Amino acid sequence: METVRDGLRANELEKDTYDRLICVGCDRSLKLRSRPDEIGSVRYCIDCGDEWLEMR
Ligand SMILES: [Zn+2]
Repeated sequence: METVRDGLRANELEKDTYDRLICVGCDRSLKLRSRPDEIGSVRYCIDCGDEWLEMR
């Protein structure tokens, strides 16, 4: 899975004026889900289903 940083670098993601992550292709703000057994959390787009790993 690509990281959020990868997505931003590839212009798949951008941040809006409130610093929220946006899926550029869908113009949709990303949802967040945790990964209980693994490090980090996942940001995902409900329109296209793409996911990006967010490390904390
Ligand atoms: Zn999308």
